[in-house]
Amino acid sequence: MCADFGWRTFYFPTGLREREKDMKKNHLITIIACAIALVAIVVVLILVFGKHEHTWSEWQVSKAVTCDNDGLNIRVCDKCGESQSMITYAQGHSWGAWSPTKKATCTDNGLETRVCDKCGESQSKTTYAKGHSWSSWSVTEQYTCTTNGSKERVCSCGEKETQIIVGGHSWESATCVDPKTCKNCNLTEGEALGHVGMIGSECTRCKQIIYPKVNMPRTPMAVYHSSALGTIIIEITQLSYKFTSSNRISVSFSAEVVSVSDEPLAKLTISVLDSDGYKIGSGSWMDVYPSFGDKYKESVSVSLELDENCSEITIVIE
Ligand SMILES: [Zn+2]
Ligand SMILES: [Zn+2]
Ligand SMILES: [Zn+2]
Ligand SMILES: [Zn+2]
Ligand SMILES: [Zn+2]
Repeated sequence: MCADFGWRTFYFPTGLREREKDMKKNHLITIIACAIALVAIVVVLILVFGKHEHTWSEWQVSKAVTCDNDGLNIRVCDKCGESQSMITYAQGHSWGAWSPTKKATCTDNGLETRVCDKCGESQSKTTYAKGHSWSSWSVTEQYTCTTNGSKERVCSCGEKETQIIVGGHSWESATCVDPKTCKNCNLTEGEALGHVGMIGSECTRCKQIIYPKVNMPRTPMAVYHSSALGTIIIEITQLSYKFTSSNRISVSFSAEVVSVSDEPLAKLTISVLDSDGYKIGSGSWMDVYPSFGDKYKESVSVSLELDENCSEITIVIE
C-alpha cells in the first residue's frame, strides 16, 4: 500500500492513524501490566502482613503461679508482634498432717500446725482444753449425825478435788403415830402428830382407822389362879394385840404353866378398861387339867363398847 509514493503522501494521514492505534495499544498494555503489578504487591502485602502462620516465641512466665494465686504465661508472634496469654490455675496447698506443737492439757489450750509441702506455708489451729475427767466421788471420811465427812475425786492429770459432806441428822417427818425421827440414830424431836378424826373412823391424814392407844401389861407376868380344884401359876411370856375391826380387839399371848397343884383349871380373864377405869369389854381363855410345863400360844377376841371419845384403853389380864 506504500508502493505508490503519491499515494504514500496521500495516505500519510492513514499511517498516522496506524501509529495512533499502536500507541493506544501500548498504553493499554502498560495499564494492564501496572494493574497486574499492583495486584501482585497487594498479594505480597497480604501474604506478609495479612493472614499468616504466626511464629510464636516460647511461653514466658509473666506472673508465676502459687498455691493460691493463678499464674500468667505470655508468647509473642515474631512476625506480627501479636501476643497470647495463658492462665495457669492455682492448685491449692498440699497440706501435710497436723502435728501438735503444744499438747492441750485439762486446763490449757494446745496448738497444732501443718505445712504445705509445695510452698512451705504453715497453718496452725488451737486444740481446746478438754477439762478434767474426774473419777466418781469417793468418801474419805464418813459423816455422822454430829460431824461432817469429806469426799474426794481425782483426774488422770493428778488434780484432786475435795468436798465436805455436811453431817447432821437425817430427819423423817413426824407422822400421825411417830414423832420426827432421825433415820440414822433414831433421835426423835417433838411429838407424833396424832390422827385426825374420831376413834373408829378413818384418819383424814393417813387414811388408817383410828384406834385408841392401848396400854398392855409388862411381860413376863405371872397369873395366879386358885379354885376348889387346886392352884396354878401361869407365866405369860409374850403379849400382843390387834384391832380386827373398829370395836373388836384380839389379844394374843404365849404362856407356860410354871406351878400346878391338884387338878385345877387354867384360866385367864382379859378385861379392857377405858381411860376412866370402866370395863368396856372382856373375854376369857380356859384349859382343863393342865400339867406343869404345858405351853400355850392362844388368842382371845374381845368385843368393845368403844366410845368415839375414848382415846386410850388398858388391857388387864387376871
Ligand atoms: Zn504473627
Ligand atoms: Zn502451698
Ligand atoms: Zn485433769
Ligand atoms: Zn441422827
Ligand atoms: Zn392418822
